[in-house]
Amino acid sequence: MSLTRRALSRLLLATGGGVLLLLLTRPRTVAPLPTAPLTVLAALGEMSLIPRAAWEATPPNHNARGERGLYDARRNPAGWLRYPEPLSEVLTTLVVHHSALPVGDGPREIQRKHMEQRGFADIAYHFVIDPAGQLYEGRELGVRGAHTAGHNTGTVGVVLLGNFEIEKPQSAPMETLERLARTLQEQYAITHLAGHRDFMPGETVCPGQSLAPRLPELAARLGLEFGIGGYRPPP
Ligand SMILES: [Zn+2]
Repeated sequence: MSLTRRALSRLLLATGGGVLLLLLTRPRTVAPLPTAPLTVLAALGEMSLIPRAAWEATPPNHNARGERGLYDARRNPAGWLRYPEPLSEVLTTLVVHHSALPVGDGPREIQRKHMEQRGFADIAYHFVIDPAGQLYEGRELGVRGAHTAGHNTGTVGVVLLGNFEIEKPQSAPMETLERLARTLQEQYAITHLAGHRDFMPGETVCPGQSLAPRLPELAARLGLEFGIGGYRPPP
C-alpha cells in the first residue's frame, strides 16, 4: 500500500484516523487486495465522502456464493473483478438506483442484505446517497459492481435511499447525485447516464416512477447521453 502525503492527510481528515487503524489491524484473509478508500477520495477531490470505515463496512467476502472468488475470464467470469485497465478507460455509464427499503436502512443495512441474502461479495453499489444528500462510499470504484444484472462491467452504481415508486426524491440527494456525476465525468470517461430499468425494461421499476423521468434532464444538464448506448460488454 502506498499513500501519498496528500491522500493520507485527506484520509485522516475524513476519518479521524479510523481507516488507517483499520488498515493496519485488519486480518488478512485473501491474497493482497489494494485498499479501497484512497482512489475514491482522490477521484472525488473536494466532494465530501463518508468512507467505508466510517459506516463500519464489512470487508468483502470472496467466498460469497454470488461472485465465487476472484474473476477469471474462463473459469469465473462473474467473479470479483478489479479492473486491470485505468478507470478512465473503463467507466462509461452511471446507473441510478433507488434502495426501495425503509429510508432508515443506510449503507450498512444494504451491505448486510446484499451479502447475507443475495450472496454478493460486498455492497452492490459504488455510492450511496441519503435523503440529507450525504454521500457514502460503497463498493470500491475500481471493482466491478453487482447492481445491474448482466451490465456491471464499466457501470458505476449509485443508489439513492428511498422508494421513489411511492415518494419523491428530495432536492438534497438530487444535488449530490448531480455533483457526483459531474465529478466522475471530469475524472473518468463517463459518457452516459441511465436508470436501472433502462437496462432491464419490464424486469424492474428501479429507480422508481418519481426519479426515473428526471434522469434524461439530468443527463442533458451534465452534457451526458441518456440511456444504455455507452455500455461495452466485457471482451
Ligand atoms: Zn436498481
